[in-house]
Amino acid sequence: MTANATRVLVLNSGSSSVKYQLLDMRSGARLATGLVERIGEETSRLVHNPSAAGGERREAEGAIPDHEAALKAVAAELAADGLGLGSPELAAIGHRVVHGGLKFSAPTVIDEAVLKEIERLVPVAPLHNPANITGIRTAQALRPDLPQVAVFDTAFHTTMPEYAARYAIDVATADAHRIRRYGFHGTSHAYVSRRTAQLLGKAPQDVNVIVLHLGNGASASAVQGGRCVDTSMGLTPLEGLVMGTRSGDIDPAVTFHLKRVAGMSTDEIDELLNKKSGLLGLCGDNDMREIRRRIDAGGEDGARAALAFDIYIHRLKKYIGAYTAVLGRVDAVAFTAGVGENAAPVRAAAIAGLEGLGMSVDASLNAVRSDEARLISPEYARVAVAVVPTDEELEIAQQTYALVNA
Ligand code: ADP
Repeated sequence: MTANATRVLVLNSGSSSVKYQLLDMRSGARLATGLVERIGEETSRLVHNPSAAGGERREAEGAIPDHEAALKAVAAELAADGLGLGSPELAAIGHRVVHGGLKFSAPTVIDEAVLKEIERLVPVAPLHNPANITGIRTAQALRPDLPQVAVFDTAFHTTMPEYAARYAIDVATADAHRIRRYGFHGTSHAYVSRRTAQLLGKAPQDVNVIVLHLGNGASASAVQGGRCVDTSMGLTPLEGLVMGTRSGDIDPAVTFHLKRVAGMSTDEIDELLNKKSGLLGLCGDNDMREIRRRIDAGGEDGARAALAFDIYIHRLKKYIGAYTAVLGRVDAVAFTAGVGENAAPVRAAAIAGLEGLGMSVDASLNAVRSDEARLISPEYARVAVAVVPTDEELEIAQQTYALVNA
């Protein structure tokens, strides 16, 4: 790698999409961002923003059959701005990998053995790891000489103590099938907890934070002195909070009941709990903006949306309470991701009534719209409540760059 190689391309390959960002690690500039969605359909779409290159946002529609074609299309867009993958300034490609199991507690340079291990984890991450592997293999084919780094969603949670990570089921069965709580969104929880400490003017090791990552997927984590000690997602991203389309916590016996009494197949139950539950299952919408609009409109439909909202908030409160007990002392609660960063009513409702825990929200601070990390609790509050925009791509780029320069 040359001394001029200061750029990192971050790739987040989903089952039918690829999100990407090209960052310059010396200047901190985001040179380009974009995404390809609906890969494999007739109506695939590529959106490319050459943010710092001065060009115009470009959008193209048309069939993109697979990830290889998607990545080639991305490479062509970057090349059109003089930012092609062949550039000697590119230091590495950082890949978001969803499941790293227990083996990967840190970013890792990808070789065949690492790819094999990511493949071995497909049974516990069937929706995510295959797409991540395809993204890696395609990027390797385009630039075989370049270091490719895997940054795992599970890595930040590998510090969870055994008593938080284990389910209370037969140990031999659990071990034989690698059943335990792994947690996800780790890159976001790591970034946001560190950024929250910074916002408080403290070192991460001196701060205990409850991070609430509320996007379409949602998870909470308890971070003690910079280390994750508990998180709400488990073996898969289904456990924990109520999400856009996932149920979060339910009595596991619901699944037996659906099989035995409702006659549903395992795949149907999987689909029900992952894709047709959560806010969507409760009220027909998974977008918090639409839910708030319906609540404001009132009537019977508004009441249905309000019940979904209340169930969502009730679960959030339970996790805030649980993690307060786990941490013993909480310095901050940080809201992040699409809902956490934008939905003031969610933040207000989640913290309402928690004065006994030292938590409250200042209504006027909470109403401010901003892209900056900020406090929304009143000055007197014992616990800081913060809105901290997450930046998983920056975190992946930083971890990737640090590793290839180590
Ligand atoms: P993902 O989990 O897909 O990465 P995001 O973190 O981008 O999701 O969050 C997406 C969700 O954020 C949307 O489904 C929507 O519910 C919510 N959201 C985005 N903007 C707003 C807003 N202005 N007000 C309320 N909710 C919002």
